[in-house]
Amino acid sequence: MTLPTEQYSCIHRVCVCVQSCHATKPGMLNVHLVPHTHDDVGWLKTVDQYYYGDRNDIQHAGQYILDSVVDQLLKNQDRRFIYVETAFFYRWWKSQSSSVQQTVKQLVNEGRLEFVNGGWCMSDEAATHYSAVIDQMTIGLRFLNETFGAFGRPRVTWHIDPFGHAWEHASMFAQMGFDGFFFGRLDYQDRARRMRNKEQELLWRASDSLTPPMADLFTGILPNDDPDLEDYNVDDVVGRFLVIANSQSTVYKTNHIIMTMGSDFQYENANLWYKNLDKLIHYVNARETCGQLKRKKSLG
Ligand SMILES: [Zn+2]
Repeated sequence: MTLPTEQYSCIHRVCVCVQSCHATKPGMLNVHLVPHTHDDVGWLKTVDQYYYGDRNDIQHAGQYILDSVVDQLLKNQDRRFIYVETAFFYRWWKSQSSSVQQTVKQLVNEGRLEFVNGGWCMSDEAATHYSAVIDQMTIGLRFLNETFGAFGRPRVTWHIDPFGHAWEHASMFAQMGFDGFFFGRLDYQDRARRMRNKEQELLWRASDSLTPPMADLFTGILPNDDPDLEDYNVDDVVGRFLVIANSQSTVYKTNHIIMTMGSDFQYENANLWYKNLDKLIHYVNARETCGQLKRKKSLG
């Protein structure tokens, strides 16, 4: 995860600081690639059908995502992953040996596997009652806290899928102690205006009645334009990536931009993703040193 670059978790007066982000370069465009999977806790199938991979003709899913991701994180310590839905993580965790659990704890402590959101699911914002939101966040966050302690505490919340965003939700997230809120979908006219004005990152004052900064929350609108990294062809993919990065940089204010690398139930084959991401990072940074770019790039 990229914002903030340092994570602070303070529980029972014990402060831990995880520096999980790679070093960035001040004078360059820094593209933060965030490998993720979006795992619906029940949508086209039930939660267990998703988890165990039943009826995979409807939508592919499964318990193998975390197997595969953990394996790939262990192969290269530069790799990172964020995980969102505790309902699936909990099912997976219960079936792991104590040695795997120990390894995963280490990955979490080092900030290489980071929980974001951390509720039982990524809740809808339009039709939910606030009591249900608080309950499901409590169940998920309590499990992470009991299992991983301060290192497992999500610092940001992540609503890449819900359609439309209620300020009551942002207010609740601020009061839950999150440092930031990232979401992907918003009204197309609102997005267009925000892109023009470079207002896709903002401090959301999410309550009229609560005394600031109680309901203030840093909010980032995700670009939602994942480059398709399959069918790899170096020149073409690097070229397309640079076009996307350059155009994205014109609609955000700072020289730090985020690119989400994943989608629904991705990373069942994490090897494919990480191999391609490693190549992409290598070749884009190689072009930078050749001085072929007008605007330099640094990938982390
Ligand atoms: Zn979804």
